Amino acid sequence: MKNSLRTVVMVVLAVCMALPLLAQEKVDSTMIAKIKDEGMNHSQVMDILSYIADVYGPRLTWSPAHKRAANWAKQKLSEMGMSNAHLESWGPAERGWALKKYWANVVGEQVWPLISYPKAWSPGTGGTVTADVVYLDAWTDSALDTYKGKLKGKIVLLDTVRAVKAHFTPEGTRDADSTLLELADAGMPNQNRRGGGGGNPFRNNPAARTRALLTYRKWQLCQDEGAVAVLNVSPRGDGGNVFVQQATVPMHPDTPFTKRINAYDPKAPEILPQIMVAAEHYDRLIRMMQRGEHPKITMDLDVKWYDPDSSYDVIAEYPGTDPTLKDEVVMIGAHFDSWHGGTGATDNGTGSAVCMEAMRILKTIGAQPKRTIRIGLWSGEEEGLLGSAAYVKAHLGERDGTFMNDPTSVKQLPEADKFDVYFNNDNGSGKVRGVYMQGNDQVRNIFHAWLEPFRDMGAYTLSLNNTGGTDHLSFDAVGLPGFQFIQDPLEYDTRTHHSTMDLWERAQEGDLEQAATIMAAFAYDAAVRDQKFPRKELPGSKTTQGGSSQGTGTGKN
Ligand SMILES: [Zn+2]
Repeated sequence: MKNSLRTVVMVVLAVCMALPLLAQEKVDSTMIAKIKDEGMNHSQVMDILSYIADVYGPRLTWSPAHKRAANWAKQKLSEMGMSNAHLESWGPAERGWALKKYWANVVGEQVWPLISYPKAWSPGTGGTVTADVVYLDAWTDSALDTYKGKLKGKIVLLDTVRAVKAHFTPEGTRDADSTLLELADAGMPNQNRRGGGGGNPFRNNPAARTRALLTYRKWQLCQDEGAVAVLNVSPRGDGGNVFVQQATVPMHPDTPFTKRINAYDPKAPEILPQIMVAAEHYDRLIRMMQRGEHPKITMDLDVKWYDPDSSYDVIAEYPGTDPTLKDEVVMIGAHFDSWHGGTGATDNGTGSAVCMEAMRILKTIGAQPKRTIRIGLWSGEEEGLLGSAAYVKAHLGERDGTFMNDPTSVKQLPEADKFDVYFNNDNGSGKVRGVYMQGNDQVRNIFHAWLEPFRDMGAYTLSLNNTGGTDHLSFDAVGLPGFQFIQDPLEYDTRTHHSTMDLWERAQEGDLEQAATIMAAFAYDAAVRDQKFPRKELPGSKTTQGGSSQGTGTGKN
């Protein structure tokens, strides 16, 4: 074969091999270039985040602070030119809670401010209290009995020492190639794994049950005896960082999950004031006592309770322009609520800012999406994906029972027929490295084409794997396409996720610009796509709902 002929054959072969991919998914490269330019060179994402995290601060669900911030987001989206920006009410509200005052000092020969933070929905101390500290150093029932009659009016250390070691690995990391390869290699997730919604969490772990039972008895004893406050050691983090979530309502370990009461429940029983303490300070108190010291703590915790009229998600739209397709909806979203210790900067101010910035980018470049692009900024995520689940239930459908993937349980509403796809951002400040396909292999070529313009920005990994713990699950649960991006971890697990140091500084500008740009591109790509987004087979159905279907895509009930 002559060289020139061989070249021709190879070119033809190469073109033929490339054709299937090219034919499968087209991307409007002119528009993507505009999105990239606006998102990477004229970003406002850090400014949006500063309003959310600095100006409005922590946004505990049902708190007045959350509602103030949600109203700002609604206003901001309107100012950006979005339509129909509103607070969408969902469900009866639980108890609102806000911190009014807190300080705690260890007093004695030396005075030192205790690095600590009250748990959300903790009651106050009713003014300044000064009390002896007792370490409840009991690891058997009989040992616990020896503390009877000794806890009244005391401040109780409930946990043992938490050892703190030097850090020999960096706090912030990016996903290594090996990690991304592992994700890309992941097979189909186990679709038939059944959740244990109503069951006994300790059924298969008697040792854990024994520990949980002792902890429950310790709480009970503190309560029965009339302790002033209970102190726990921050379960993670050091260097003065405190990881703090909601107050504990002591429950017998055999109480099924569905019967457990949260501190925010208006029907919750009375509990003691509860403080989370930085590991080093907590451990120092114990070391002092073990050496014969008798430290006292003086503290004042004042909180305010609210009875909010409702719970709220923030919703706004960029209307579609195609006469037929404009009734179809592409959604992007993130949870807007946070824990109270920091400012919810990376959990999830960043995701919220990414979504708001994506909407701004599209409007600024004058994008003309065929379908309507809708943003949802959820509340109640930290309490169990409540806001997004309520939205899905009100608009799209519901899954019956407690078992995931129960074949008979999905019921979709008529609006679900017009629903296209949902994209979520909620794993901290890290840039996008790819997408979890949530067990839907039909989307691989689509995402592959959509990510191609962002390959040089580090986003190229597609994992068949599921990821959990955030609001895309509410959509996925009713058989609708819902996805969370693969994001670099940065300092999420080590420093910011539910900590007092979840602050604006931990948000990385370049990462967020990239994530907002990709979010805008994905929303646009979905909104101009010829075909509706392919759906997974509904659990239990025999027919595949293909991506080529313009119809309902449901083989449901
Ligand atoms: Zn969180």
